[in-house]
Amino acid sequence: MRLSRYFLPVLKETPSEAQIVSHRLMLRAGMIKQASAGIYSWLPLGFKVLRRIETIVHEEQAKAGHMPMLMPTIQSADLWRESGRYDDYGEEMLRIKDRHGRDMLFTPTAEELITDIFRAHVGSYKDLPLTMYQIQWKFRDEVRPRFGVMRGREFYMKDGYNFDLTKEDALHAYNRHLVSYLRTYERMGLQAIPMRADSGPIGGDDTHEFLVLAETGESEVFYDSAVTDLSFGDRAIDYDDVAQCAGVLEEFTTKYARTDETHDAALFEQIPEERRRVARGIEVGQIFYFGTKYSDALGATVQGSDGKPVPVHMGSHGIGVSRLVGAIIEASHDDNGIIWPEGVTPFHAGIVNLKQGDAEADGACEALYSALTALGLEPLYDDRNERAGGKFATMDLIGLPWRITVGPRGLKNGVVELTSRRTGVSEEMPPEQAIERLVEIYAPHRGQ
Ligand code: ATP
Ligand code: MG
Repeated sequence: MRLSRYFLPVLKETPSEAQIVSHRLMLRAGMIKQASAGIYSWLPLGFKVLRRIETIVHEEQAKAGHMPMLMPTIQSADLWRESGRYDDYGEEMLRIKDRHGRDMLFTPTAEELITDIFRAHVGSYKDLPLTMYQIQWKFRDEVRPRFGVMRGREFYMKDGYNFDLTKEDALHAYNRHLVSYLRTYERMGLQAIPMRADSGPIGGDDTHEFLVLAETGESEVFYDSAVTDLSFGDRAIDYDDVAQCAGVLEEFTTKYARTDETHDAALFEQIPEERRRVARGIEVGQIFYFGTKYSDALGATVQGSDGKPVPVHMGSHGIGVSRLVGAIIEASHDDNGIIWPEGVTPFHAGIVNLKQGDAEADGACEALYSALTALGLEPLYDDRNERAGGKFATMDLIGLPWRITVGPRGLKNGVVELTSRRTGVSEEMPPEQAIERLVEIYAPHRGQ
């Protein structure tokens, strides 16, 4: 992409309505525009990051054997009356009437609808286990939408649902989700710590929230600092291996890590004092096992091997896809702007031409641009007729992890400059070498 043709409405001024850094930077970098309270348009740069995050979620779900599908955003109230949640959900549910006066709603989550699909089509224990998920817009009429996309009213969420014959199988599904979520967040350059949580209106006993530590987080969290040393890394995992998934769950959830809802002061005191941490976190996902709550309410049974009807065991799992864009910025920025982790960056590298109009500099930039594109990388070429300072400031603000700077002086010696946004360190090298370096850097992030 050439910056001269890209729609990137960056703001010079810091928007006064934004209270936290991710909201400020998303507005300043031209990623989003508020349409009304808690509802945003995603401009090209923001949309690109949203898509990158969504793609990682899809790829990791596929590895775990979960099937993507799509359910409507507008649902009839009938099913929600059947489950009892039409009244329980309260003011957060956006209720709509259609032209015939029928009660409809904008889906805040989809347990009812998926259970209805299940009861219509699945009749036998032989069809289990089954896990389906969608990535779809949700609406919750939050009392206080704030912090930009972090607490929106309309937000983009991955929601998945598992159906299993026995509690044991459903707990394996729970563990499998925990593992796949760990991998998902790590690919986004995030450490998201699973913490024992409260189930809220979804119901159920077993639930973990995934929290990214950040001062601006809305949740108060209590943990043993040893949990921050854990990382899943690139170890191999077989999602059908019950023992292996259970082992990972144990490894990541045994040490104390809880939200304020489940915090137990006495247990916390047992951790050596120097490892006790009280901090704040951003909830980026949650997994639930809720047994037969919805299958009982909605009559979702299968015929067991003895011919008798058995209610299915279920769980649900959510990832805040749009919230993650903000959470990643909260975790990764500096005074000059965003610093995208390689896994989610909207463009792989910026190309800054220090002397637009200089035949040699223009030619070298074009050559770099074509070579990177041909290798499947996406560069953003700043080909505007602007001063170098302005170009650098824009690149720093939008946070591409790598920048190649091209100028007549360097070209005389056959070199360009490759700069890391994270460390600020620049290295001179021939253009071919810069290309090679980028290919190496991004190799682990592609085609997974
Ligand atoms: P919260 O406690 O933050 O209100 P929740 O526990 O009600 O969230 P879930 O039902 O667990 O939310 O939804 C799954 C994920 O969707 C959450 O982990 C969070 O990342 C995201 N999410 C929930 N509400 C919002 C919102 N209003 N705006 C953006 N993302 C949200
Ligand atoms: Mg939650």
